[in-house]
Amino acid sequence: MTGSAGKMKTTGKPGHLHGLERGMTVALLGLFLCVQWGPLSDERGKWGIAAGDPFVKEIVLTFDDGPRESGIYELISTLRRLDVRGTFFLVGKFAERYGFITRDIDEAGHEIENHSYTHPRLYTLWTEKVMREVERCNEVVDRLGIRVPRFMRPPGGGFNLVIFDAMRRMNMKLGLWSVNTADYTGRSAQAIASQVLGDARPGAIILMHSGVPATVEALPEIVTALRGRGYRFVTLQELWDGGSI
Ligand SMILES: [Zn+2]
Repeated sequence: MTGSAGKMKTTGKPGHLHGLERGMTVALLGLFLCVQWGPLSDERGKWGIAAGDPFVKEIVLTFDDGPRESGIYELISTLRRLDVRGTFFLVGKFAERYGFITRDIDEAGHEIENHSYTHPRLYTLWTEKVMREVERCNEVVDRLGIRVPRFMRPPGGGFNLVIFDAMRRMNMKLGLWSVNTADYTGRSAQAIASQVLGDARPGAIILMHSGVPATVEALPEIVTALRGRGYRFVTLQELWDGGSI
């Protein structure tokens, strides 16, 4: 939004815009927003994505913190049964330790993205450290012969300008979310399903975690109900390709 700030300035009386200037400012702001929202615009979502096109009934299910042995195969087989491709934000050191699981996730057709190498609070680190954390995760995935991640989700969701800058320098995007199921707090499957079904919107990105039994249990109801409402499940890359805000 920095581009529009300069256009808001008045040269005359401070704090008062003449009618014409005000009209032009509104028009320019409107144009700016259209450019930002346009699905085909180069300007859109330079920094990353937190939700997709609000007019397209697509939803992304994302699973953080894997791969771990506990619960991961239940999750993979449930997604296979439901014919849904998920997006997995993997922690590099776990992807390294459990390379065979990482390959299984990939071979099952899911998308693998970056959740740092050691899962630190990235916003406490310098640019080079942030880049190294993200790079090391990418290197692990690359060594396993899997498409290198293009999105990074900061552990805990905290981010700052240093992280923006690091991602820009690495030509990567932030992969955030619009619905947090808080499935890591021990909530019941019913509570998780009710929340997702209540908060789901076109373009929603749902934050879940791998290795949580209640999440696996909630998936059939979530997927069936949302498909009934006309939603299609896509990966984060597919949502990005279709347009983001
Ligand atoms: Zn995490």
